[in-house]
Amino acid sequence: KSTQHASLKQFRQVKEEINQVYAQISAYIDECLEFFNSDCSANTPGAIGDAASAKVEEACFARILTPAAVQSVTDFRAKVRGIREVISRNQMKCAFFGRTSNGKSTVINAMLGRKVLPSGIGHTTNCFLQVEGTSKQSAYLQTPNSSEEQPIESVSQLGSALSNEKMDCESLVRVFWPKQLCSLLREDVVLLDSPGVDVSPDLDTWIDQFCMDADVFILVCNSESTLMNTEKKFFHKVGSKLSKPNVFVLNNRWDCSDGELDSAELVRKQHMDKSVSFLADELKSCTRSEAESRVYFVSAKEALVNRLKETNQGLESPSPAGSLADGWQSRYFDFKNFEREFELILSESAIRTKFAAHAEQGRHIAGQMFSILEAVYEGSVEEKDSAVRQRQALQRDLENLRVRNAKVAASTERDIRQTLEGIERKVAGTLSE
Ligand code: GDP
Repeated sequence: KSTQHASLKQFRQVKEEINQVYAQISAYIDECLEFFNSDCSANTPGAIGDAASAKVEEACFARILTPAAVQSVTDFRAKVRGIREVISRNQMKCAFFGRTSNGKSTVINAMLGRKVLPSGIGHTTNCFLQVEGTSKQSAYLQTPNSSEEQPIESVSQLGSALSNEKMDCESLVRVFWPKQLCSLLREDVVLLDSPGVDVSPDLDTWIDQFCMDADVFILVCNSESTLMNTEKKFFHKVGSKLSKPNVFVLNNRWDCSDGELDSAELVRKQHMDKSVSFLADELKSCTRSEAESRVYFVSAKEALVNRLKETNQGLESPSPAGSLADGWQSRYFDFKNFEREFELILSESAIRTKFAAHAEQGRHIAGQMFSILEAVYEGSVEEKDSAVRQRQALQRDLENLRVRNAKVAASTERDIRQTLEGIERKVAGTLSE
C-alpha cells in the first residue's frame, strides 16, 4: 500500500518543496519591505531634536533607496502571492476522449475504484465532466450555470441531474468526490470525461477550453472496431496546439474479442501496429518503442468489477454488467500496467509543465531581489564612505585652521609685545627727558 501511487506522490512532494521555497522568498520580501518602510529617523537616536540632521538622514535614505526599487519589491510581493496561489491549486490533469460508448466513463470509474460517473446506455455524457477531489465528507457537483454546490447522493442521481440540466457539449460540470474515498484523487489527480468525439464538436473550442492544461490524454477505443478518423482527427488537432502531447491508447472491451483465440492474437497485433504508427509516425508524440508502452488491451468493465470486489463494494451494489469472462486476469494485469505507466508519465509531465515555469520565475525574482538589495547595500556603503571622506576633510580644515590660528596668535603676541616694548621705551624716554 505504501508504494501505491508512488510516482504521483512525487508531484505532491515537488509541490510542497516549491511552495516552501516561495514561502522563503515571500518572507524575504516582507522583511525587505518592512525595512524599506521603516522610519529612518528612528535609526538616529543621537539626533534628538536635531531636525536638520534628521532631514539629512532622510535625504540620504532616499538616495540609497529609490522609489523604483521600492516599487519593484512591492510588485514582487503581489506576484509571489499570485504564484503561490496557482501552485496550491495545481493538479495533474488527465483527459479522456473517444467515441460514445467506448467505455470512457467505465475506465474512469475503474481507475477511481468506484462508480462515480454514470455509464451505460441512456447515460451518454453529453458535456464535459471533471472529477476532482474535495476535503469535504460528501460528494457534490457544480454546473456552469451556478456556483451552488449540489449534493450527489448516488450515481443514478448524478445521471438524472445531468440529464435534467440543459447543457451543450461545451459545458463543464465539476464533480467533487471526497478524497478520503478515493486514493487517486488524494494525489491531486483530476480526470476529465468528454462527450464522444463523434458528436461532431467544435474541436478547437474543446481543446482551447479544456485541454491546454491536460498532462495526459487517454484515447479510449473500442477494440471491436478499428481506430476511426474522427478519433485521429481530434488528436491531430491536439498535436497541432500542444507539442508532443502524452497520449495513451486503451483498446477497451478486449473481453469481447479476447475469447476468440484464433483471431485474438492477429487482431491484437493489428491494433498495436496501427496505434503505434498513429502515436509515433502520425502524431510524432513519442518514439515507436515508447509508443509500445502507451497502448493497452483492457476491459474497463472487468477492471471495475475487480476493484469493487477488492473493496467489498460489490456487496452493496450489483456488479456493473455481469461477471468476469475467461482470461480476465491478463486483461486486469494489462489494466494495472497501464495505470502504472500512466501515473509515471502523468506526474513527470505535470511536474515539468506545471512547476518548471514557476521554478524559473522564482529564480528570476530571487535574482532581481538580490540585485536591488545589492544596489541598496552599495549605495549605503558609498554614503558611508562619502561621510567618512567629508569628516576627514573637515578634520583637515580644522587642523589647518588651528595651525593658522596658532601662527596668527603667535605673531599677534609678538607684535603686541614689540608695540608694548616700543611704548615702554617711548614712555621711559619721555620720563627721562
Ligand atoms: P462512454 O460513453 O464512452 O463513457 O461509455 P460508457 O463507460 O458509458 O460504457 C458504455 C457501455 O459499455 C456500458 O454499458 C459499459 O458497461 C460497457 N462497457 C464499458 N467498458 C466495457 C468493457 O471493457 N467490456 C464490455 N463488455 N463492456 C464495457
